[in-house]
Amino acid sequence: MSPNDCLFCELVRSGSHIRQADGFVAFEDINPKAEVHILIVPERHIDTFRQIGELPPEEALRMLVFIADTARALSLEDYRVLCTVGSSAGQTVFHLHWHLLGGRDLGGRLPALALAEAEGED
Ligand code: AMP
Ligand code: ZN
Repeated sequence: MSPNDCLFCELVRSGSHIRQADGFVAFEDINPKAEVHILIVPERHIDTFRQIGELPPEEALRMLVFIADTARALSLEDYRVLCTVGSSAGQTVFHLHWHLLGGRDLGGRLPALALAEAEGED
């Protein structure tokens, strides 16, 4: 996908951001799956986490620090950071992004594990 027809490139350029620093933006997910659901997006377009090696190591580290700083800025003590990689893993927007989920009790298990457990009970 080219940056010209990428939704998140467009939101990086002209969306409403809760934080922006050093090549990264954070904005609210339009369809929240938790009380707090923020998306963290690098301004530079890469399709998925698979291409993480295309980021200079120093930029990749700053991205992780930006996620932790965003959680801190939102006063989240415990939270979940999630990255979908490929459509069968749930990725629907092909611009690398991290889900930051927090707020009211998220439940102790990852959704995929909970699902596998529930299916096993049938
Ligand atoms: P994923 O399914 O992991 O690719 O995550 C994409 C996320 O983008 C989903 O959680 C969507 O709810 C979210 N999303 C889609 N369109 C928008 C938008 N216009 N503004 C904010 N979040 C969006
Ligand atoms: Zn993009």
